[in-house]
Amino acid sequence: MFDAIIIGGRCAGSATALQLARKGHKVLVVDRSTFPSDVISTHFLWPHGTSYLNRWGLLDRVLAQTPSHTEIHLVNDGIPLAGTVPVELLRQYFQQLHGDDTGVVQRYASVRRLVLDKLLVDAAVEAGAEVREGFVVEELISEGDQVVGIRGRTRQGARVEERARVVVGADGRHSFVARTLKLPKYDERLKCTFAYWSYFSGFSLGTAHMHRRGRVSIAVVPTNFNQNMTLVFGPSEWFESFRRDVAGNFQRALDFVSPEIGERVRTQGKREERFYGTVDQAAFLRPLFGPGWVLVGDAGSSKDQCTATGMTHAFRDAELVSAALDAGLSGRQPLDVALKQYESRRRSQSAAAYYDYVCTQAEMRPLRHDELQLFVVLRSNQEETNRFIATHGDIAPLSEFFQASNLMLLSDAAKESSRDYAVFADFEATSRMYQQNLFAA
Ligand SMILES: Cc1cc2nc3c(=O)[nH]c(=O)nc-3n(C[C@H](O)[C@H](O)[C@H](O)COP(=O)(O)OP(=O)(O)OC[C@H]3O[C@@H](n4cnc5c(N)ncnc54)[C@H](O)[C@@H]3O)c2cc1C
Repeated sequence: MFDAIIIGGRCAGSATALQLARKGHKVLVVDRSTFPSDVISTHFLWPHGTSYLNRWGLLDRVLAQTPSHTEIHLVNDGIPLAGTVPVELLRQYFQQLHGDDTGVVQRYASVRRLVLDKLLVDAAVEAGAEVREGFVVEELISEGDQVVGIRGRTRQGARVEERARVVVGADGRHSFVARTLKLPKYDERLKCTFAYWSYFSGFSLGTAHMHRRGRVSIAVVPTNFNQNMTLVFGPSEWFESFRRDVAGNFQRALDFVSPEIGERVRTQGKREERFYGTVDQAAFLRPLFGPGWVLVGDAGSSKDQCTATGMTHAFRDAELVSAALDAGLSGRQPLDVALKQYESRRRSQSAAAYYDYVCTQAEMRPLRHDELQLFVVLRSNQEETNRFIATHGDIAPLSEFFQASNLMLLSDAAKESSRDYAVFADFEATSRMYQQNLFAA
């Protein structure tokens, strides 16, 4: 009999296991994967993501094999911004969500999942959790409406049954737990991005670059093995035409969005792996807990990769749910009361606002005139640029950056600083061009 059985051993599952085991609970993690292994995901971590790893004592291990940086470059329709997330905003984030701001760092890092997930699994084992790899969960065991355990198959094919006081579904966006319990999806947003990426050696941009032009975005981010994770994404309705010629359209997208980066990749870049791609990114929410079960990470809510926050959100959930489960399992609080608190933090107004923001971004509409004006103004205001970047990555609340009084101040400044900015000269022709599918030919 375990205190908790966790199905899924990656960002959400191993991170939850490690914290529960450190608090003295008897934990079993099962995953059908074996580690190290990759998943269909890029792997950019914002500073709150690296801060979580630091809080758990794991960041040094990650940075021993992964490049990191404190500034990112964003370019929207040719308007450049660069910034660092301020420490005060990171502190506020951790204080508000977890009541404790230890371990805050300003680092961005892009760590391959075959590196990170293995490191998390090993840390869970070191903390005392039992981890069974290559184990497929095939059934949930219930008594009445209470989930009390799992049945599954080991790598060797043996059928095994295990019981626990709570079963944690950390089993990703196609969650087995959610499907078995017939949990509904709600607030589904079907419009999303398609994404294609690969790994290139042979050049260095020093830091992360995220550029957008019209309805297409690219990102070049230094990662493990002296390579650059190089990503192209656009609206899901352009997916079919993109994939007719992945290599050609990939280079076409780089050249269109940033001729400089396109040139670097074409002339100096050596592609080290195949292209990876997906369009399976529609967003949804699910109920988060019930008798004997709780969901964390993508299982409970999944959304488009365009702001690169899913892994950090899985870390956030792991820290929130392990605090709630510790309170419930140790008897300090009834388990359902503790899990209700977990749910209210995950489904707060500011989480709802960010969900909406990501889903809107994922439609990849050409940027509006007022959005471009905002970027023009931000160029001359580093403090607000940093705050915008923190807001885009879900470190600072959307309601603060986008509050009316802040935008009115920016708007006055916009009149001055955008007056002779070239992007507005042929706005109509530009926006007509941006509507056309770049990959249709
Ligand atoms: C194209 C793309 C790019 C992305 N880029 C980023 C990014 O740059 N930064 C970022 O922060 N996030 C990114 N994300 C999001 C990120 O990948 C997810 O949010 C994250 O993987 C969620 O972690 P998780 O632990 O909840 O689930 P997962 O990583 O999906 O892990 C679930 C685990 O559950 C196991 N499992 C499932 N069912 C069973 C079963 N029946 N029995 C046993 N095991 C089972 C699976 O084997 C798997 O290992 C991206 C996503 C996509 C699709």
